[in-house]
Amino acid sequence: MGIATVNPATGETLRTYDALTDPEVEERLARAEEAFAHHRRTGFPQRAGLLRRAADLLEADLEEVARTVTTEMGKPLPAARAEAAKCVKAMRWYAEHAEAELADEEPRPEDVRDSGGSRAFVRYRPLGVVLAVMPWNFPLWQVVRFAAPALMAGNVGLLKHASNVPQTALYLEDLFRRAGYPPGCFQTLLVGSGKIEDILRDPRVAAATLTGSEPAGRAVASVAGDEIMKTVLELGGSDPFVVLPSADLDGAVGTAVTARVQNAGQSCIAAKRFIVHTEVYDAFAERFTARMDALTVGDPMADGTDVGPLSSEQGRADVEELVADATAKGARVLCGGGRPKGLDRGWYYAPTVLAGITPDMRIHHEEAFGPVATLYRAADLDEAVDLANDTPFGLSSNAWTRDTAEQERLVDDLRAGGVYINGMTASHPGMPFGGTKRSGYGRELAGHGIREFCNVTTVWFG
Ligand code: NAP
Repeated sequence: MGIATVNPATGETLRTYDALTDPEVEERLARAEEAFAHHRRTGFPQRAGLLRRAADLLEADLEEVARTVTTEMGKPLPAARAEAAKCVKAMRWYAEHAEAELADEEPRPEDVRDSGGSRAFVRYRPLGVVLAVMPWNFPLWQVVRFAAPALMAGNVGLLKHASNVPQTALYLEDLFRRAGYPPGCFQTLLVGSGKIEDILRDPRVAAATLTGSEPAGRAVASVAGDEIMKTVLELGGSDPFVVLPSADLDGAVGTAVTARVQNAGQSCIAAKRFIVHTEVYDAFAERFTARMDALTVGDPMADGTDVGPLSSEQGRADVEELVADATAKGARVLCGGGRPKGLDRGWYYAPTVLAGITPDMRIHHEEAFGPVATLYRAADLDEAVDLANDTPFGLSSNAWTRDTAEQERLVDDLRAGGVYINGMTASHPGMPFGGTKRSGYGRELAGHGIREFCNVTTVWFG
């Protein structure tokens, strides 16, 4: 598919775009390099002023940009508004805290003496032009959580956004321009993924960050590895949601539904596998299935819609294949299991709960990127932990228990970049975000995120 806005609620192509030509890409790379030479020398107060201005503009544009997001990728309008508001918050967070997060650090005095030096410190200096390859599922947030820290650190950004969200991508370029960033500080490259390798191999590009699927991550990281280039990868997830007997069951059920169907289930940190202790399994399964079945699926622009369409026809076909594979191998459909009735246009899929999952089913070890929950019965805590970790992914994890000893055990043993107890995984600008295993490496957000694209420089005086 080319670069185009196709409304997932109707399947209608609204706008198509020509990809940039090679000379146009070259022009933008040159502009980025030029912008870096200037931007790296600006101070934190100036950078913070620019980012605060961008935040104010985004806040003023919130309704309009939310409609663009909903039109391009299908999330319900209130969720698109919330995404834009979260971006405003993250921009303000980095405007306020970047300077402290990147302050010079002093080694221990005895180590300075031992090194034969009179003085030493560590300074976080920017790397240069950072290429960001981004997905469509949170088309504002994924970009802002890269751009805000990168720009505050003194880097400049090139955005290769997913091909189905070109209007959102162009909006973001325009936002930073209107905020007063010099040309070249943040540019959108409307190109297909086939152009990424050439751009990565350009010596003017210093680093890359990719949020997306495992194959895309592997492709970008392979080229970057060949070029000895720093990367951060935020890839897929199949997060567990463990429920133990002492849990607040009502709270767990309500949160489980939200955690699974947010963004029509197309979220890397959506809880996807629900692992429930046998003592509370039946009660949980019954209430969870009833709540999933009662959700309103429909027009993402309409009030009262809980679940919009999937973002693409291919995305729905992928989910259909995973469910068909599971049911052919014996999984039981507790609700949903197909396209909702009465929604003939658009790429809708009914909220679905599957039970009786076995390791030979693809859905046991692949990511279900749609509103499909898998239920597992665990005999005890040990089995729950084993099931939770029985996945190639390690993005985040959720667990419900009031027992503090169990909480400690889960914090120690769940193999993921996050362990959220009695709640749902949600990123926050002040806390690091990222995965282990096939979910990628490196961290975004907080001080950890802003330091990823810095040259950690040791300064030493004899
Ligand atoms: P995708 O197909 O991997 O696309 C993501 C981005 O990578 C797009 O810009 C895409 O460009 C580009 N791309 C695809 N193949 C590429 C290749 N071979 N070389 C270079 N670039 C390539 O993923 P998606 O379907 O948009 O997003 C869903 C995936 O992202 C899920 O697995 C989800 O879990 C993951 N995700 C992870 C996080 C996280 O923080 N860990 C957050 C959100 C989503 P085109 O659109 O032009 O193909």
